[in-house]
Amino acid sequence: HAKVSGRNQYQFFSKDMNRKAKVRLDLESRMRRALVNEEFTVFYQPKVSADDDRLVGAEALVRWIDPDKGMIGPGEFIPVAEETGLIEQIGSWVLRRSCEQTIGWQKMGLSPVKVSVNVSARQFRSRAFIDIVTGVLGDTGLDPKWLELEITESMLMNDVESAVRKMGAIRDLGVGLSIDDFGTGYSSLSYLGRFPITTLKIDRAFIADVDTNPKTAEIARAIIGLSQGLNLEVVAEGCEISEHVAFLKEHGCSTIQGYYYSKPVPAEQFQQMLQAGRVPRPKD
Ligand code: C2E
Ligand code: MG
Ligand code: MG
Ligand code: MG
Repeated sequence: HAKVSGRNQYQFFSKDMNRKAKVRLDLESRMRRALVNEEFTVFYQPKVSADDDRLVGAEALVRWIDPDKGMIGPGEFIPVAEETGLIEQIGSWVLRRSCEQTIGWQKMGLSPVKVSVNVSARQFRSRAFIDIVTGVLGDTGLDPKWLELEITESMLMNDVESAVRKMGAIRDLGVGLSIDDFGTGYSSLSYLGRFPITTLKIDRAFIADVDTNPKTAEIARAIIGLSQGLNLEVVAEGCEISEHVAFLKEHGCSTIQGYYYSKPVPAEQFQQMLQAGRVPRPKD
C-alpha cells in the first residue's frame, strides 16, 4: 500500500530487467559455447509395453553438462533457447544424436526400439524442419519407422492449416507423430480427427492421482478410449508407483513411461537395458 513514486518504480523495474537480461545473455553465450564444445548429451527414458513390460522405446531428453555448473535440465535452458532461436541448433543436434545412437544399437544387433524426440514450437514452425529431419534420416540410415516426434497441442492451434500440412509432411517421411502432454494444452478435440498423428501421450498430471481421484481416473480412461477409437497408440507418462501401472494396464493403455520403470538414463545405461531387453527394477 506504500505509495512509491513513479520514478522509483521505474528504477526498480529497470534494475530487475537488467539483471534478467544479463542472466539471459550469459545463458545464451554459455549455450553457444556448449554447442561448440559438445556439452549437451541425450538421456533416454524407457517406454515399456503394458502387456508384458517389454522395453519398446525411449524418449530422448536433452541434458546439459556444464563444466562449472554440472548437469542442467531442459526446464532451465529450453525456454531461453526457444526465445533466442538457439533451440533450432540444439534441437537438430538432439535429433541427429538420438538417431545416430538408435541406429548404432540396431547395428550392434540389439532388438530395435522406437526413439521419440521432442520438437519445440520454433523448430516445428521453421521452414527448414522437414529438410533437417530428411537429412538426419538419410545421413544416419535410420528407418523412419523407428523415429517419432513429440509435439504439443499449443504448437498446432495458432495456424491449424499449416500445422496439418507440416504434420502430413512428417508422416509422409514415415516418421511417427505424438501429441505430448495431451489434455493440458488448448482443447483441440474438434481438430483431433484432422491431425495425422500416430500417438497420444497422456500428461502426467492425469496420472499422478489416477489411483486416488475418481474424476482423474475417468479422464485418463476417456483419453485411453479416445486413442483406441481413433486407432492411436497411447502412452502414459509420469507413472511413478505400482498403482498407476495397475490402473493403466487394467484400462488398456498400450505403453507406459515413468519413474516406476526408470528415470531418464545416459546412453550407456540405456544400452544395457536394451541388451537385457527389459528395465531392471530392484523393487521386484
Ligand atoms: P516432456 O517431453 O513432457 O518429458 C517428460 C518429462 O517428465 C521429463 O523431464 C522426464 O524426466 C519427466 N518424467 C518422466 N517420468 C516421470 C515421473 O514418473 N515423474 C516425474 N515427476 N517426472 C517424470 P525433463 O527431462 O526434465 O524434460 C522436461 C521437458 O523439457 C520435456 O517434457 C520437454 O518438454 C522438454 N525437453 C526435454 N528434452 C528436450 C529436447 O531435446 N528438445 C525440446 N524442444 N524440448 C525438450
Ligand atoms: Mg516429450
Ligand atoms: Mg510430456
Ligand atoms: Mg511435459
